[in-house]
Amino acid sequence: MKILMYNSVDKEVPYVNAWAAKTGHEVVTLFEPLSVANVDRAQEFDAVTTQQTTDMPDPIYQKLASYGIKQIALRQVGYDVFDLPAAFSNHIRLSNVAAYSPRAIAEYTLTQLFNILRNNKKFDRAMATGDYTWAAGGQAREIYQLTVAVIGVGRIGTAFAQILHALGAKVLAVDPVYHAQNEAFVEYTTLDDALSRANVISFHTPLNAETQGLADQAFFAKVQPGTIMLNMARGGIVDMAALEAALLSGQLYGAAFDVTPNENEFMDQKQTVTELPENIQRLIQLDNFYLSPHIAFYTNTAIKNMVEIALDDAVIMANGGHTENEILR
Ligand code: NAD
Repeated sequence: MKILMYNSVDKEVPYVNAWAAKTGHEVVTLFEPLSVANVDRAQEFDAVTTQQTTDMPDPIYQKLASYGIKQIALRQVGYDVFDLPAAFSNHIRLSNVAAYSPRAIAEYTLTQLFNILRNNKKFDRAMATGDYTWAAGGQAREIYQLTVAVIGVGRIGTAFAQILHALGAKVLAVDPVYHAQNEAFVEYTTLDDALSRANVISFHTPLNAETQGLADQAFFAKVQPGTIMLNMARGGIVDMAALEAALLSGQLYGAAFDVTPNENEFMDQKQTVTELPENIQRLIQLDNFYLSPHIAFYTNTAIKNMVEIALDDAVIMANGGHTENEILR
């Protein structure tokens, strides 16, 4: 089988080659995301896979179907990039890699929480100017004394909650889906109760109609002054103007974001600071705001799993078979 792999990154290539050698299938890599402009490259292929943050609009599914392609295997968790009705009406089956490494994102979320707690950005900036005083950064807090609200306790939220619990933090869980086994390390509660008690709020939900703009002005008004906010999930969950106001007013002590609503304008690109969107230029100047380029997932374990699982699913679905990773209507 010939598989076209859109938006591949260098680090995937050794795993792609190893998979191809093991399975006997042929994989051709392209370094751009799947788009209307380049969907025609998939002609002559049997299956496609991509990982991307840019949307895949309707003409893509029509064209893939006209080339005899039956599926798109996404090498990532978040599948809001698909136009589901358009895909299904063109009989294109979709899959994602729902769990390539929840620990990768959980560990990065913890890393950024420690950075905020330890005032590392302030210390780093001060030390770069020769200022080695304690006052430059300020006193830290210790994690076992904190209450952390995990909003969305699915695969990643659960992994993060388990780590926090192991470190002695109190973990509040907010999720419409209840898992009794999580009671061993979280206390389930309502969103409003969690916001009123938490020192740290961390988002691990998908972007959907309920979570779009969830953290708006009214949300920030409900949190305790001096709360820490972590968003490694999807940019659209947080109203960035309300976030900026909360960081400036002290309602938030600090925040770390791996995602923003406008990230497609600048993530994965080299550019000058002045080319960044204006709100991002302002935010990265703040010494209590940490921005990272959508890298929470980016570990060797995660990349290996996302390549192997997506390529296996591409073959299965192209052959009309069943995979538990299929996105159903
Ligand atoms: P998951 O589906 O296992 O868990 C999501 C959880 O959110 C579910 O338990 C669901 O019930 C819950 N949820 C849905 N709506 C909610 C709401 N309104 N309030 C509270 N909880 C709600 O997904 P996951 O694998 O844990 O991934 C979570 C998100 O993390 C993904 O959707 C993706 O957007 C993001 N992500 C980011 C990166 C990164 O590199 N930054 C990598 C992978 C995933």
